[in-house]
Amino acid sequence: MKKILTVCLSLLMLAGAMTSCGSKMFMATGSETGTYYAFGIVLADEIKNATGIEIGVQSSGASKANIQLIDDETVDFAIVQNDVMDYAYNGTNTFAADGAITSFSAIATLYAEVIQIVASPDITSVADLVGKRVSVGDVGSGTEFNAQQIFEAYGMTFDDIQKQNLGFTDSADKYKDGQLDAFFLTAGAPTTAVTELATAKDFNILTIGAEELAYLKENYGYYTEYTITADTYEPMEEDAVTVAVMATLICDSELDEETVYNVTKAIFENTEAITVGHKKGEELNAQTAVDGISIPMHAGAVKYFKEIGSLAE
Ligand code: GLU
Repeated sequence: MKKILTVCLSLLMLAGAMTSCGSKMFMATGSETGTYYAFGIVLADEIKNATGIEIGVQSSGASKANIQLIDDETVDFAIVQNDVMDYAYNGTNTFAADGAITSFSAIATLYAEVIQIVASPDITSVADLVGKRVSVGDVGSGTEFNAQQIFEAYGMTFDDIQKQNLGFTDSADKYKDGQLDAFFLTAGAPTTAVTELATAKDFNILTIGAEELAYLKENYGYYTEYTITADTYEPMEEDAVTVAVMATLICDSELDEETVYNVTKAIFENTEAITVGHKKGEELNAQTAVDGISIPMHAGAVKYFKEIGSLAE
């Protein structure tokens, strides 16, 4: 009898342990001074309020790194750039060497991510970056892809600069200390790293020339033109014209339909509460959230967007 009781107790404990690890999920974001991280925390809070589903938010090297984290099953959800998820799924760009990753699905686009080039005030064009100390984003970030393509539009490569691979926080810190002349970052604007830097050091946000802008839009379908208005960061004296991509929520394709449906619904039916937590919530739009997605969507997200009429039945 005692033995049976012990076996039963152990089974119960095992079941308990399995439920508790089964109920906690994880989301990979980006640098702690980027937008993914702060926005991810707000999303996770609202998802928990609406559904009881708990999602732990992790900082990371951002887009490419996040797709790898889903692939090796470290996380269940991630925020990535829509251009990078297409490269991953189709095995192009730097994924050509690593191989395509197709273990993830798209849920929805969230907000525009702006390619911001922060440079010392004496630098007024991307062409001036020749020979300069420039951070092009973390290894595995979407920022690095964007920087590479912008240089290409100017007939330049990473060989023309003294390239450094730093995340947002390190880029801003090194720029502040005079160890960098410029840095790229792709994130919702204003971005915390740059807002904080503005209190300590002067800078320019570079404008991409009209010809180079046309080149980018023609050769890379993801870019849309975006104006960073002069009131975005304290040191800016005029508007800066650049390009933007879309921050997109993705997940492990193996997640069940009901979970993903509930998560999608929780986000798009609580946009006001999300906006209170993070200003980028204003850009959440259930009608356009499926635009710009070039890879398969998760069945749970498809179910929600069909239900509200954003996708055809
Ligand atoms: N889009 C950025 C990247 O993948 C990260 C942005 C952020 O952390 O807000 O490089």
